[in-house]
Amino acid sequence: MKTNQMLLTYKVKHDRDLSTELEKARKVAEYAIEHRSRSSADVKHIGLKSVIANQILRKYGSDRKARAVTNVVLIVPGQSIRYHSQSRIISVSCLKMNLDARFLPPFEKVNQIELNEEYAFVTVTINEPPLREVDHWIGVDRNTTGHVAVMGNPETGKVWKLGKQCHHVHNKYKNIRRKLQKQGCYKEVKELKNRENRIVRDINHKISKKIVDIAVQNACGIKMEQLDGIRNNRKQTSSFRYSLHSWSFYQLQRMIEYKAKLLGVPIAYVAPQFTSQMCSRCGLLGVRNGKGFTCPHCGHVDHADANASFNIALRPSIEEGVGRLYADRDACKGRIDTPQEATS
Ligand SMILES: [Zn+2]
Repeated sequence: MKTNQMLLTYKVKHDRDLSTELEKARKVAEYAIEHRSRSSADVKHIGLKSVIANQILRKYGSDRKARAVTNVVLIVPGQSIRYHSQSRIISVSCLKMNLDARFLPPFEKVNQIELNEEYAFVTVTINEPPLREVDHWIGVDRNTTGHVAVMGNPETGKVWKLGKQCHHVHNKYKNIRRKLQKQGCYKEVKELKNRENRIVRDINHKISKKIVDIAVQNACGIKMEQLDGIRNNRKQTSSFRYSLHSWSFYQLQRMIEYKAKLLGVPIAYVAPQFTSQMCSRCGLLGVRNGKGFTCPHCGHVDHADANASFNIALRPSIEEGVGRLYADRDACKGRIDTPQEATS
């Protein structure tokens, strides 16, 4: 069986003072933009290590749109990086610098490292483990009633609600932001937005880890709704009034995806139509009332988000070729047939 590989970038804090090198890198980048040069001989006088200078010349010299240099980083290519697997140390000899790699998952090689004042962004190639055999799926839905995500296992009826704090963070920052905006403090508004994004990202990391861990413990795969991308989802914001920004859920999905790959947990996507209106027990359309869901056909009563997550778990995936078609066709008839359990 062919092994799939993926590239992942890890952020590692370093304690080296790189201000001199970064200043030189900025000069090289400015030179590259001004002269459209890609020759390292031209920037030799600046004194940046040529292996790094070459990367920066390549990046800025070929970017026709680049006009100003912001946030320049030192780029070190893989050939100039050594990994000592015994001590788990990555050494960047051109900067006389060592990085601790003990927290990284096993990887094949280091592809590249980018460095700023504080952090090293280490990109590594990882061999994906073979996919686990699973009998059942758990469904993960973006939540509409105050959490980030709801996960349901229709096999056991168990439901997990994850990331409540995210909603509080969002509301708290929204109020402060509004006040600042009225006072015209735009710089502070932007800083606050960045801080909120960092907090949400951190929460998403924890939730995605939890979801993948639960899938492993339950020997399940993970099914999620196929989102059409961030732009299309903007239209839906009114109907997802209580949910956080779509980008935040999109980010969560990407995190779940790569964490699942690292552990060999299968991921599948389903068509998003009617996952919240359909009854997870009989498959007919029910009534959504606030946080509750009631089915007039079979009498099933459930938490609305739990019901939706069950539907996602039970729906055939798009990869199986029937997901979208099946939902669209039945939507025309005003009803949806009983979902069949995915058996892939
Ligand atoms: Zn029903």
